[in-house]
Amino acid sequence: MGRREAGSLPQRLIILGPPGAGKGTQAKKLTEVLDVPHIASGDLFRHHRSKGTPLGIKASEYMNNGLLVPDEITTAMVLERIQPPLDMQGYLLDGFPRNMFQAQALDDMAARGRPVDYVILISVPDDELVARLSGRHICGACQASYHIKTAPPSTPGRCDRCGGDLLQREDDRPEAVRVRIRVYNEETHPMLDHYARSGKLVEVDGLGRIDEVAERLLKAMHLGPSVGGP
Ligand code: ADP
Ligand code: ADP
Ligand code: ZN
Repeated sequence: MGRREAGSLPQRLIILGPPGAGKGTQAKKLTEVLDVPHIASGDLFRHHRSKGTPLGIKASEYMNNGLLVPDEITTAMVLERIQPPLDMQGYLLDGFPRNMFQAQALDDMAARGRPVDYVILISVPDDELVARLSGRHICGACQASYHIKTAPPSTPGRCDRCGGDLLQREDDRPEAVRVRIRVYNEETHPMLDHYARSGKLVEVDGLGRIDEVAERLLKAMHLGPSVGGP
C-alpha cells in the first residue's frame, strides 16, 4: 500500500467477506469515521427489488436463491455510483466486487480515475456465519443490521437509527445461506489472491465484539480509535 500524506484519511475502500461476516455492520461504523458514501451492492439490489424496477425484477430470482446476479447488471449498477469524477468524493464498497470479472471492471475504472486505498477482508468461520445469519434482522428503511442475541435493537422490532421496521431477509433461511457460503468459497474467495498481489489487502479477524472488530479495522488501516473524534 502506498504512503499517504500525514493526516489524510483513506477515501476509497472495499470491504469483503463471506455472507454474515459483519461487512454491513462495520461499514456503517466506518462511515461515521470516514466521510465517504457506503455503497452496498446488496442494498442497491434490495432497493430496486422493493421499487419493482426492471433491474430489481431481474435480480430478485438470483437473490432469493442465494446466487450472484449476472456481472453486466451488477457492474453497471455499482460503477455508475463511483466512476470518475464521483470517485473524488470517495466510497466504501460493501459486497462488490465478488468475482474476478467484477474486480477487473473496477480495476479498469480505477485506472481512469483514482486508486483504491485498501481492500479489507473480514474473516469469520462458517459455523459462526450460520449463527449470525439465522438471527439477523435488518431495517427495511436504512438496511442497518441487528441480531436477536448479539446486537438487539433497544426497542424490539424497531431500528435504533431511523425507527424503521425490522425484518428477516428472505435469503437468510438456512438453504439459501448454505448456497451463499458455497458461492462465496467458489467464486469470491479465489479473487482474494488478486488483491493480495496488489498489496492492498488487509485481513481482519471478524470474531469478537462488534466494537473490537471495528478497532481492528481502524488499526489495520493505521488509524487510531480516536480518528474522527472531537
Ligand atoms: P454482512 O453484511 O457481512 O452479511 P452483517 O453486518 O449484516 O453481515 O452481520 C450479520 C449478522 O451478524 C447481523 O445479525 C449482525 O448484527 C451480526 N454481527 C455483526 N458483527 C458481529 C459480531 N462481531 N459479533 C456477533 N454478531 C455480529
Ligand atoms: P450479504 O450481506 O449477506 O453478504 P448482500 O446483501 O451483499 O449479502 O447480497 C445479497 C444478494 O445480492 C446476493 O446473494 C446476490 O444475489 C446479490 N448481490 C449482492 N452483491 C452482488 C455482487 N457484487 N454480484 C452479484 N450479486 C450480488
Ligand atoms: Zn433503520
